[in-house]
Amino acid sequence: MKHYDALVIGAGPAGVAAALYLARFGMRLAMAEKLAPGGLLLQTFEIENYPGFPQGVKGYELADSLAAHLEPYDNITRIHDEITEFIVEGDSKRLLAGGEWISASAVIIASGVQYRKLGLPNEEKLLGRGISHCALCDGNFFKDQPVAVVGGGNSAVEETLHLAKIVSHVHLIHRRDEFRAAPLYLSRLKALPNVSLRSSTVITSLHGEQQLEGLTLKDLHKGTEEFLSLNGLFIFVGFEPAAPVLPPDLKRDRGGFIETDTEMRTNLPGVFAAGDIRSKLCRQVVTAVGDGATAANSAYTYLEQQHG
Ligand code: NAP
Repeated sequence: MKHYDALVIGAGPAGVAAALYLARFGMRLAMAEKLAPGGLLLQTFEIENYPGFPQGVKGYELADSLAAHLEPYDNITRIHDEITEFIVEGDSKRLLAGGEWISASAVIIASGVQYRKLGLPNEEKLLGRGISHCALCDGNFFKDQPVAVVGGGNSAVEETLHLAKIVSHVHLIHRRDEFRAAPLYLSRLKALPNVSLRSSTVITSLHGEQQLEGLTLKDLHKGTEEFLSLNGLFIFVGFEPAAPVLPPDLKRDRGGFIETDTEMRTNLPGVFAAGDIRSKLCRQVVTAVGDGATAANSAYTYLEQQHG
């Protein structure tokens, strides 16, 4: 069985930062990544609040830079497989990746999040057939056509701003009257002639067999329903943890996010968590990067103590 000083699970901003710091500490490490480095950055059009980029930076550009930053380090082994077993027995951590067992003295979990679903019948079936979680990837399929976006947070509003440049009209559907999104984004949105805000409104059904054909909307104030005919729906109703198989006694919050202290230590010695998978309030690229660096520092301190 191959053994590493540390294993980093995930190659988003948190995982890359952790790997970079560990590599620079001279550790022998492995990094397990399902897809190319970047995580959700690969589905993000632009980041405007990343310090040092006053003009903003495209998600894919930042993802490319993260990948390039890892290149010079030959002490990082890249594993392009999902972790399907993760066993912690005292100080020993054994993981199964692509049918091969590996062991590591420390593990940093940075597997991120995945898009939450509405939970409506037909939703799964129509995903990729009119329903999408990525305006950047799929917006152009609906050029000059009307679409709907659902959600009231920063993701829904930011992606609406992007879509409004491509499509004929965006119906932004939110279940409450108040939006969670930052006021700066909301004021930009309100200035756009081709965006309608549909607050206190929920989607009660998704229509279509092979392709999305429309939505039934319910106005929660009036109790009335209407049919909205369109072929594109972008769902941004938050995230849930994208957790690989995790040890059963790893402490997680009610939403499944991993609990850590401020140094990214979990309740299991030698197991750390960083980035969006962690139980916390502020999920940003910049906080993910900070978590990754902190987790690497804690893992390094842990390894030093282990080896006396
Ligand atoms: P979020 O802030 O959790 O907002 C999710 C939205 O979806 C909420 O408005 C929520 O409604 C609504 N929602 C949840 N479940 C729903 C359901 N079943 N049906 C209908 N609506 C539902 O998620 P997010 O916007 O994806 O953002 C996640 C994190 O990333 C946040 O911390 C956010 O600040 C951050 N983010 C930051 C930026 C940025 O700074 N540029 C950009 C994107 C994301 P309620 O409001 O009623 O709960």
